[in-house]
Amino acid sequence: MKKNINIAASILSADFSKLGKEVYEVDKAGCDMIHIDVMDGSFVPNITIGPSVISKIRPFSKKPFDVHLMINDPARHIDDFVAAGADLITIHYEADKHPIRTLDYIRSKGVKAGIAINPATPPTVLESLLDYCDLILIMLVNPGFGGQKTIPSQIEKLKVLSKMLKKHNKQIFLEVDGGVNPKNIKTLINSGANLI
Ligand code: ZN
Repeated sequence: MKKNINIAASILSADFSKLGKEVYEVDKAGCDMIHIDVMDGSFVPNITIGPSVISKIRPFSKKPFDVHLMINDPARHIDDFVAAGADLITIHYEADKHPIRTLDYIRSKGVKAGIAINPATPPTVLESLLDYCDLILIMLVNPGFGGQKTIPSQIEKLKVLSKMLKKHNKQIFLEVDGGVNPKNIKTLINSGANLI
């Protein structure tokens, strides 16, 4: 079976002192999207970049910016990330008391909306959100740092979600994030991931 797989290159491991150039280079290397990890030092231990940096690197690529918000109460900042040039904004289920409202708001701005879940969150919580999102992101590691090893139980979760999407006839992105490497990429694709 032929599968349509998209690659989102993460800039988390880039040299932040020349981020624009690095974004340009991963774009030219052939990725489909640029994956940008935003961390607030509260929802996750680490702090990365915010909307002002994203707006500065926006001119370095015409490819979609896939912005992954690992921040508490993301609704407060949606306007800023839209203005910075995000094409897709993913919020965390665990970080938002009213995810449907926020997903709706993201879409109302003409931007695609995604929902992410941490390794300890069961996949079933997403069933009531399927009508409101264009992307589901499964964290294969506990978010906060790059370079971690995938937690094996998350592969099972990926399969459950893939089945759930088929059952509801939803053709949306099923993205995996954290510890993806040339060794496990085949397993992830065979388990249902279509955005890596
Ligand atoms: Zn991410």
